[in-house]
Amino acid sequence: MTDNKEQHPAAKLAYSRKNAWDVMSDSEKGAASAFCEEYKKFLGAAKTEREGVEAARDFLAGAGFRHLEESTALRPGERVYTVNRHKTLIAAIIGRNPAADGFNIIGAHLDSPRLDLKPQPLYEADGFALLKTHYYGGIKKYQWLSVPLAMHGVVVKGDGSAVSVAIGEKPGEPVFTVSDLLPHLAKDQMDKKMADAVPGESLNVLVGGIPVGGEDLKDRFKLAVLERLHQMYGIVEEDLISAEIEMVPAGMPRDVGLDGSFVGGYGQDDRVCSYACLRALAEMTGPERTVLIVLADKEEIGSAGNTGMNSSFFVNAIAEIVSRCDPGSNELVLRRALSHSRALSADVNAGLDPNYGDVYEKTNAARLGGGVVLTKYTGSRGKSSSSDAHAEVMAAVRCLFNSAGVVWQTGELGKVDQGGGGTIAHIMAAHGMDVLDCGVALLGMHSTFEVASKVDIYMTYKGYKAFLLS
Ligand code: MN
Ligand code: MN
Repeated sequence: MTDNKEQHPAAKLAYSRKNAWDVMSDSEKGAASAFCEEYKKFLGAAKTEREGVEAARDFLAGAGFRHLEESTALRPGERVYTVNRHKTLIAAIIGRNPAADGFNIIGAHLDSPRLDLKPQPLYEADGFALLKTHYYGGIKKYQWLSVPLAMHGVVVKGDGSAVSVAIGEKPGEPVFTVSDLLPHLAKDQMDKKMADAVPGESLNVLVGGIPVGGEDLKDRFKLAVLERLHQMYGIVEEDLISAEIEMVPAGMPRDVGLDGSFVGGYGQDDRVCSYACLRALAEMTGPERTVLIVLADKEEIGSAGNTGMNSSFFVNAIAEIVSRCDPGSNELVLRRALSHSRALSADVNAGLDPNYGDVYEKTNAARLGGGVVLTKYTGSRGKSSSSDAHAEVMAAVRCLFNSAGVVWQTGELGKVDQGGGGTIAHIMAAHGMDVLDCGVALLGMHSTFEVASKVDIYMTYKGYKAFLLS
């Protein structure tokens, strides 16, 4: 071992990754901790994409943003937002530069993997009332067994009125669960491949056990649940056909570790980046370029549907903004605004997990505590479907972050050919804008309790702020 004084001159040519805890001042560590207290409140309140949009809208309204449709003309400095079908939100601050110069855009998503109730969920078996589910997004099914679940969502009744449902979060409220098989009787199950051990059709949620009526009444356990739902929400069984009920892990996010260095909770993919860009946007004033964030839906199932990033809602909202900034604008101005825009695809990446170290390529894997992650490409089997950011884009962002004191690192989603994944980066890039994936590294991504480092969350917010200002 040599100490620094004796190092070869060539040593200073080398790049070495940093741990944010080593380089942050005490006051910045305090700021990170305070930021994460607010983040945990948001994460705990945003258990679904609808609740995420509501929480984001309330936050923006408190920060001086108005609904886009309230104005016919927009001037520099004005703060606006728009919501698409309760599930996506776009917010912007108008810049001094013309729209055709392009926007600074950050795109995150508010949907997370979960168990959705089927259209006809309620049935009874062996003295239990149960709810059938169809899982949403990429889950490892065994992770959803034997954990307390809460019920969140909306029921649209036959008369068109909507009732919000949320059971299992407040103290004293019951929770729900999907039972797991006891080890004593699991011999056949344990011999199966992990992917086959828990069939999708066995993810049935325990919802009741007290019957109504006498022993000769048919379906009396199911009827008892219907009676209770009717008392609570005024709904009948047919109303469940037009409901969106999500079973999600119950409970609030928590600090993890004796030192409280991490945030643990459900849905950090991608509500952590959603919250970071919301805060970054709200704290800006008077930008040169128009700044815009999009919080999208359906990312976890391929960005399809009219609330997913593949839909035209994104470009339509930008067109509405461009036309209000420049009443004489036309299709060409819109296309210039899109293709001259710079974007961050704000999504999480996999942090190196020492329990499963052999699926990562350690030189290129992101570390918890290493700062905000720049991911040049995603995809699988040879970068398939990745937008693969250009060298010029990587250079611009790393220089920006260096000059703004943002601790950053690079990340790659596991070893080559180990698996892979995607984000909305390629969809934004399809509009002609430069895009780079940039977000927080997680342990246990898509599990019921994802873990993120507080300093990474803070550095992501700080990086987004620098990017929006650039
Ligand atoms: Mn994601
Ligand atoms: Mn995901």
